[in-house]
Amino acid sequence: MRNIKTMIEPFKIKTVEPIKPTTEEYRRKTLKEAGYNLFNIKAEDVLIDLLTDSGTSAMSSMQWAEIMNGDESYAGARSFFAFESEVRKLTGLKHIIPTHQGRAAEKILFSIVGGKGKTIISNTHFDTTRANVEYSGAKALDLVIPEGKNPSLIHPFKGNMDIQALDSAIREIGAENIPVVVMTITNNAGGGQPVSMENIRETKKVCSKYNIPLFIDACRFAENAYFIKKREKGYDKKTPLEISKEMFSYCDGATMSAKKDALVNIGGFLALNNDDLAQKCRNMLILTEGFSTYGGLAGRDLSAIAQGLREVVEEDYLAYRIRSVEYVGERLTEKNVPIILPPGGHAIFVDAEAMLPHIPKHQYPAQALACELYAVGGIRGVEIGSAMMDRDPITRENRPAKMELVRLAIPRRVYTQSHMDYVIEILDIVNQEKNKIRGMKMVSEAPVLRHFTARFEQV
Ligand SMILES: *Cc1c(COP(=O)(O)O)cnc(C)c1O
Repeated sequence: MRNIKTMIEPFKIKTVEPIKPTTEEYRRKTLKEAGYNLFNIKAEDVLIDLLTDSGTSAMSSMQWAEIMNGDESYAGARSFFAFESEVRKLTGLKHIIPTHQGRAAEKILFSIVGGKGKTIISNTHFDTTRANVEYSGAKALDLVIPEGKNPSLIHPFKGNMDIQALDSAIREIGAENIPVVVMTITNNAGGGQPVSMENIRETKKVCSKYNIPLFIDACRFAENAYFIKKREKGYDKKTPLEISKEMFSYCDGATMSAKKDALVNIGGFLALNNDDLAQKCRNMLILTEGFSTYGGLAGRDLSAIAQGLREVVEEDYLAYRIRSVEYVGERLTEKNVPIILPPGGHAIFVDAEAMLPHIPKHQYPAQALACELYAVGGIRGVEIGSAMMDRDPITRENRPAKMELVRLAIPRRVYTQSHMDYVIEILDIVNQEKNKIRGMKMVSEAPVLRHFTARFEQV
C-alpha cells in the first residue's frame, strides 16, 4: 500500500452557509459593548466560531433524511423506538430516557440521588454537572490523576480517575453518602483528555467494592473509544463500536448530551439499569421534560440521534476527527503557542497562564486571551478557568481554577483545514503581540454558571 499522508475530510459539501469577516475596529467596539463576554456577541459577528462543539455539528444527508422520517406521535412514536434501540445497542443499559440535552438528564438524576450530605465523585465534573450536583445540595469532588493537572506533561490518558484517591475518599466520606461515581469521557473540563479502558475497569472495581453505581458522562464516548484504540494495548484491532460497548459494559447508567457525539443539534439521554431509580427518573421526566417516549424532543430529533450514533463510530470519521484536532495542536506547538499536550479529542486548550505571565490569576488571563483572539481574528473561543469556576456555594469565595485555559472547540464536520490554518495564523500573531494584552475585572455575575452572563472591564 502507498503511504499517502494527506488526511482529507471524509465528506463532500452539499450545503454551504456563508461567513463574513468584520473589521478589527468593529470587533473591539463590539467586545466592549458585550462586557468582554463572548457569549454576548452575535454569531453573525463571529468568523470562526469555536465557542463549543455542542450542538454545532453538521448533520449528514442521511441524518437530514431521518429528519423527514421523524414520527411526531405524542406516545410510542417510531422515532423513539429507533432511538431506544440504538442507545441500547451501544450502552447495553435497560432503561433509555430521552432528554432535550445533557443537563436535563443531570438535573433529573441528581435531583433524585443528590441532596444535602451527599457527595458525587468524578474524574472531573463538567460545569453543568457540577452545577446540578451543587444545586441539589450535594458536594462535587474531582479526583483526576495528578498528570491530568499538568498542562505540558505528555500522558496518553490524562482524563483517568486517581484510583487510590477514589478508594480513600469513599472510605473517608462513607459509601452511604456517595450515591454515584461519574466517569466523564472524554474529560471535557480537564482538557478533552481520554480515559483508558483499564481505568474505567479499575474505577468500576472500586465502586463495586463499596456497592456504589458507576455512571458514565458519555458526551464524547466515540472520541474516547478511538483514543483507546490508538493508545491502549490490546485494542488496535477492535472497532470503535466494540470498544464503546466494552466501556459501557462497566457502568450502571449514563448521561449523554447528544449535541456532542451523536452529531445532532439538540438532544440527550439518561440510561440506567436500576428499575426503581428509572421509575423515579421517568416521573421527573414527565414533570419537567415531557412524556417518556419523547422527553422534550421532536420525533425527528430522536431519529437524527439514532442515525448520528451509527455514524459517529465509523472509523474514517473518527480518524479524521482526532487527526484534524491533532494537526492544529502540532502547528501551534511549532509556533510556541502553549497548549495542553497532547491535544484532546474535541478541542485545543491554550494555556493562558503560560502565555500571559504578566496577567495575575485574579485578572482572568484566559478571559483576556479569548477576547483578544476575537478582536484580532474574529475567532470565538471560551474561557475555562477562574471565571468559569463559580464561587464556593457555602463561603461565596472565588475559587481559583487549577488552570487558566482558552478552549477552542472544533465543531464536528463544519470547518475545513484552511479554516484551521487561519486559526493557527491568528494565534501565532496574538502570541507574538501578547505583551499588549491587559487583564480583566469581573463587574457583574450570576450566582451559578456565572461565566455565561458575567460582564468584565479591562484593567
Ligand atoms: C456538554 C456537556 C454536558 C452537558 O450537556 P448539555 O447538552 O450542554 O446540557 C455534560 N457533560 C459534559 C462532559 C459535556 O461536555
